[in-house]
Amino acid sequence: MAAQFNPVTPELLAELRQVVGDKYVKTDEDYLERYQTDEEGNSHYFHKPEVVVFPGSTEEVAAIVKLANKYLVPITPRSAGSGVACGAIPVYHGMVVELERMNQILKFDADNMYAVCQTGVITGDLQREAAKHGLLYAGDPSSADSSMIGGNVANNAGGNKAVKYGTTRHQIYSLKVVTPTGDILDAGARLKKSSTGLCLEQLFAGSEGTLGIITEVTVKLRPMPPYAFNMVCVFKTDEEAFALPNKILKAGIDPTSIEFMDNEALRMTCKFLDMKMPHVDEGCDYVIVTVESFSEDDSDRKMEQLCDLAEANGSIDEFEADKRIWTLRKQFAEAARDVDKMFQTEDFVVPLDKIPEITKQIPELREKYDLYCVTVAHIGDGNIHVLPLNAKGLSPEEWFQKIKAFHRDLFPRVYALGGKMSGEHGIGYKKLEEFALCTPQAELNVIKAIKKALDPNNIMNPGKLVEIG
Ligand SMILES: Cc1cc2nc3c(=O)[nH]c(=O)nc-3n(C[C@H](O)[C@H](O)[C@H](O)COP(=O)(O)OP(=O)(O)OC[C@H]3O[C@@H](n4cnc5c(N)ncnc54)[C@H](O)[C@@H]3O)c2cc1C
Repeated sequence: MAAQFNPVTPELLAELRQVVGDKYVKTDEDYLERYQTDEEGNSHYFHKPEVVVFPGSTEEVAAIVKLANKYLVPITPRSAGSGVACGAIPVYHGMVVELERMNQILKFDADNMYAVCQTGVITGDLQREAAKHGLLYAGDPSSADSSMIGGNVANNAGGNKAVKYGTTRHQIYSLKVVTPTGDILDAGARLKKSSTGLCLEQLFAGSEGTLGIITEVTVKLRPMPPYAFNMVCVFKTDEEAFALPNKILKAGIDPTSIEFMDNEALRMTCKFLDMKMPHVDEGCDYVIVTVESFSEDDSDRKMEQLCDLAEANGSIDEFEADKRIWTLRKQFAEAARDVDKMFQTEDFVVPLDKIPEITKQIPELREKYDLYCVTVAHIGDGNIHVLPLNAKGLSPEEWFQKIKAFHRDLFPRVYALGGKMSGEHGIGYKKLEEFALCTPQAELNVIKAIKKALDPNNIMNPGKLVEIG
């Protein structure tokens, strides 16, 4: 990696203190250690910042970015640090800009169904505020109770409702962004349509903090459907389970979620939560389908239709589940961490009709790389989380090398089927090299040209997504 940056100096620290105040500039060792990683547990990836700064306003963020350019010091934007692609790790050291203080919902307009949020609003808090007004904020990563709206936009988080409502990029009207040169930009507008210039808010969504720091997000709200059910369809084989999503969508059932947990993921999570669930001991998989509706009749009709469809496709049982099923689904990552803090969450995405083709290659890869894996999936989106677990207690370096070799074999297979390596977690630092290898040159050239144009000093989250040197 090119080391084109300067170290953080006492002069820079003094100027940062003038911008945000003494107590919001941290250089104590315990802070630097805490911010050397995000959700990543493998020390191979850890890098300490030289300073952590906690701005309280867009203007303060802009002033910090101007200082980063003046002193040529890299910035790593950070929200909750729940990312799983090492996106918030300061790989060139420098400054971490932690946005957690900017946590206010600035405006909540229930009549016109939108809210203006500061970047550090916890996603779950926004969901709960919307629910109080009979409204829905449809962005719903499993990390909603910790991750922040700005982090969700930066990563274009997906989650459990993307089948019906899309990912985070589909929930936004507009963004306030501090560009890498320190300008304050309002991108997008609260409009249903616009053919006026480029769609800049969508350029920043999913840019992983490499094109600027998002400081405000105007989100769309929707009416909350009053009727909903969660149906668990039980399958003896992965093949039968994987064939169901396409059929549900084609039947017009319009589900909010279609999630998959294989038997190993079910066993591991049930054990972790000390929970007993039907058919898990018999080696079965679950497909969890949530359907929301505005009419009870419609809801009943869809439930019947879904059960018929599942049975016709080999389901051995269907049962209606209460919201504990979502605890089971959302806690699998914690259960995996309980096996060993180093685990890998694959996040590849393929067209729905290619799910059976890619998943049938996984057992071969498991064997080839001697990996113990569990699988969960946002199966209605074709987004599959195979989780290799470090069940044999490999060292950080051994684990890093094993996962690298696994990726170099897996990703070309995914791309050959028209897929991509990340459906929602992003590229970050972790998959930087693989992204460069798998992405066509013309696409890489465009991404690098945009990055260079917006960030001439390369100070904004360098070493993530693409390396421009
Ligand atoms: C248990 C668990 C479950 C999860 N489930 C899901 C899931 O269902 N779906 C899903 O998509 N992800 C999921 N994730 C991953 C993670 O929660 C998401 O990627 C989330 O969007 C990250 O938000 P954050 O606030 O933690 O951002 P961080 O981790 O702090 O940052 C993520 C990236 O965004 C950048 N960034 C952060 N804030 C800003 C900002 N304001 N401006 C510009 N750039 C910024 C950072 O530099 C970094 O590159 C899960 C993670 C965990 C631990």
